[in-house]
Amino acid sequence: MESVFVVVGLLVLFFFFVQKRYAKQDELKDSHYKKKGALLNMKEMAFYNALLSAVGQHGIIMSKVNMTSVIAPLETNKKKWFIANNRISKSYFDYVVCDPRTLQVRVAIELDDGRELDKGKVERQKLLMHVCKSSGIPLIGTSVKHSYQVSRLRRLLATHIDLIESEKEVRFCKRCGSPMVIKTATQGDFQGRRFFTCSRQPQCTYTENYNVIFDEEDDIA
Ligand SMILES: [Zn+2]
Repeated sequence: MESVFVVVGLLVLFFFFVQKRYAKQDELKDSHYKKKGALLNMKEMAFYNALLSAVGQHGIIMSKVNMTSVIAPLETNKKKWFIANNRISKSYFDYVVCDPRTLQVRVAIELDDGRELDKGKVERQKLLMHVCKSSGIPLIGTSVKHSYQVSRLRRLLATHIDLIESEKEVRFCKRCGSPMVIKTATQGDFQGRRFFTCSRQPQCTYTENYNVIFDEEDDIA
């Protein structure tokens, strides 16, 4: 008699299992999809092409990369971790340029679409600047205009990506007139960033920014 109950019990369990399983499948089948258009719109595409020719073989460009694929919260507290992760989970980087050998992200690029500043846009820029500063990823804010200025784009990138050689530029020291040389900062806030320094160092200590750096200007803020 007992074994009958066991068998019935097992059958009931099996029934629920099967029903649950098939019910789930039905739910999935009920959802239908259509293919969307191109991954990038015309403006984004124009900028992507400009980036491609600026970077050449020296970097791999990825577009619309979810932030959580690139950065993670630096929290040990579980609750704080989830809050921090939530903040970035739905946001993406417009473009990232990666090292072609390791696919490490070297620089993030935000494309200003020219839309007026609204609350959403301001919030996004705040988030972008904070996460990039906090995680040490250089951020370049740029606009669609640069789609037509590949050489300018190249110079902007060359500050952060040592693999990219921008057109040879000769500069002379504004203090003593000697030729200047390019060096890379090895410490401090500008670590990894290139700059011009007088070749007469240490006699002359004049240095100059490699170029106008957008992420330090108001261009993105
Ligand atoms: Zn000098």
